[in-house]
Amino acid sequence: MNDNLPQLAENAPARDILSAGIQAANGPVSLACSFSREDVAIIDIAHQAGLTLGVFAIDTGRLNEETYEVAEALVERYRLKINWYFPRHEDVQNLESAEGLFSFRESLDKRHACCAIRKVEPLSRALTGLAGWVTGMRREQSITRSDLQAVERDRLNGGILKINPLLEWTEQQLNAYTEEKRLPVNRLYGQGYRSIGCAPCTRPVQADEDARAGRWWWENPENKECGLHRR
Ligand code: SF4
Repeated sequence: MNDNLPQLAENAPARDILSAGIQAANGPVSLACSFSREDVAIIDIAHQAGLTLGVFAIDTGRLNEETYEVAEALVERYRLKINWYFPRHEDVQNLESAEGLFSFRESLDKRHACCAIRKVEPLSRALTGLAGWVTGMRREQSITRSDLQAVERDRLNGGILKINPLLEWTEQQLNAYTEEKRLPVNRLYGQGYRSIGCAPCTRPVQADEDARAGRWWWENPENKECGLHRR
């Protein structure tokens, strides 16, 4: 089946992947921004290359203060326009009234229910009308991301393109890029965090652990996705 996906050399530079993906999408493309180091690097790469890339973010209501600080720093540095999406307030009210504030720690189903309300449903609204979206996912982050492609057809989200420009980047490469460019990064990285999501579901990790080991640390490694990146 011809998917009209761009032909990219193995280990193509992030800038080339981003540029080819945006061109192939042939319509509006946005970065799903969680203000990770990866997302900050992608915003900088797009800016340097003069690419037209929108940015949206999902405020789950449970983010760290440090994450909001990065958002404001990016707005200031790049004059960035961030399209914020929030969960439907009735869904959050019902969830918290019925289940309490930490139900996501009780079972995988309850964790998925919280992620569905706070992340997946807002994502579906954020993706409406887009021809493609960009993520900061990297292969080495976890076993759930080892078979990523640079540009893929996202069949679970209407067949739009999903562009992963940093898929081959190592954590060392990423750190070198953000340090060299003096990009604004989340202060929590300096406290042992290596992947940062909602505050109650993220903790620092040991050097020999997967980067995403601190996400939902009470669950098995194969479950460590929130539903945003089902494939
Ligand atoms: S990461 Fe945790 S708090 Fe955030 S939406 Fe998922 S379960 Fe809820």
